[in-house]
Amino acid sequence: MTRVLSVTSEATPLVKTGGLADVAGALPGALAGHGVGMRTLLPGYPAVTAELRKPKTCAEWPDCFGGPARLLAEQVAGLDLLVLDAPHLYARGAGLYLDETGRDWPDNPERFAALSWVGAEIANGALPDWSPALVHAHDWQGGLAPYYIARSPAAGKVRAVQTIHNIAFQGLAPAARLSALRLDPADFKPDNLEYWGKISALKAGLIHADWITTVSPTYAEELLTPEFGMGLEGVLLGRRAQFSGILNGIDMDMWSPDKDPHIIPYNKPRGKAANKAALRAEFDLPKADGPLCVVISRLTAQKGLDLLLEALPALLERGGQLVLLGTGDAALEAAFRMAAEHPDVAVRIGYDEWLAHRMIAGGDAILVPSRFEPCGLTQLYGLRYGTLPVVALTGGLADTVIPASPATLAGKVVATGLQFNPVTALALSNALARLCALYHQRDLWHRISRNAMAHPVGWEHSAESYAQLYKGVLGQTT
Ligand code: ADP
Repeated sequence: MTRVLSVTSEATPLVKTGGLADVAGALPGALAGHGVGMRTLLPGYPAVTAELRKPKTCAEWPDCFGGPARLLAEQVAGLDLLVLDAPHLYARGAGLYLDETGRDWPDNPERFAALSWVGAEIANGALPDWSPALVHAHDWQGGLAPYYIARSPAAGKVRAVQTIHNIAFQGLAPAARLSALRLDPADFKPDNLEYWGKISALKAGLIHADWITTVSPTYAEELLTPEFGMGLEGVLLGRRAQFSGILNGIDMDMWSPDKDPHIIPYNKPRGKAANKAALRAEFDLPKADGPLCVVISRLTAQKGLDLLLEALPALLERGGQLVLLGTGDAALEAAFRMAAEHPDVAVRIGYDEWLAHRMIAGGDAILVPSRFEPCGLTQLYGLRYGTLPVVALTGGLADTVIPASPATLAGKVVATGLQFNPVTALALSNALARLCALYHQRDLWHRISRNAMAHPVGWEHSAESYAQLYKGVLGQTT
């Protein structure tokens, strides 16, 4: 067994704000069949410590970034957890990263430096009975782990992989925090920790990891360009020989149309149609001639939903309907609340896992008009449930959906959804018009829907890619 420590700030089913949690929660189980034994280091947020029954204390630090900390070990929900119990850093309400007013916790740099530092401690033998051969750090919250390892006795012995789930979050901190974050001032240089006068935890990971991954091959290419690299494209270009994209998968048990306890199972007669009727009833939507479209998303500029507001007439004019579930920017929330005044539009502002299942099962199509999308998960749920994805041609959306086109509709139909490009309201309007036309070609629609449901979206292939990657990185000589 290859011993790997995953350093992550969230993991399903314990704590989640986005796709990172799905990946960190699913990967250990998926890797078990590939000779990888993965333990997961998570912050001891209240939602995590509440799940611990009889944890074993396996390490303690009297001063862990401003207070005492313990490392608690227990198997929870199929994860071999190491929980960093540091109440001064994590025992607080509101969000994982944001306070009650929606602002970043002021000590976020310390909170996740501590997580990364403990990851490096584990790499240096802090546990009496287990040590990793490789540390897999996720996003900026884990980004300092490869740095601390590189500056420790484990350097050159324990390998590090850094995964970028979203380069928009870089973990910037003022230079004045260098010593508080246990960083060597000599490393505060543009070719190391410094990003335009600030400390960047993500950049630290990108510089010091033995290998860098991101969550789709197309996003990996996009990240090398100024348009998508968000200032780190130069760093990534410098490391392109150790940089690759591996697609995310989804949990095939949790998202299973025949067994999903939150929906009318598809193996019942008229399964899909029954879910659609139930969704319409839940939102008081009238019957309609066009496709029922759904969106499940954070409401931020990244997700391109302002484009959907502009493009909505193209759907509604053709008898289509929209159900949107999301939270985020106040202005977008307000705009969608207003859009819901139309009888064919329903909006739920909030976060609701089970409603997400009912929407994926009940919708005809799922819309993902993101301006950039590292991988994206909701289009994968859509594929699995035969809910056709209508996606922007970017990142993981480009890598997971086979767009309906003359080529993919000719002969043996291979299309699984629709794509549009450029990512503009006009192109999205055109895609919605194409969707509505396709909806009336029932045989073709059903064929595409069957293709979608047969498309592999689980972890099998990607888990193998990660296992191969670990093997390759561990085989590297210094
Ligand atoms: P990101 O990580 O950028 O938010 P992803 O598509 O990779 O986007 O992952 C988002 C995950 O969060 C998916 O599992 C999606 O179903 C879920 N999600 C997002 N918003 C909501 C919501 N309002 N209610 C329920 N689930 C949501």
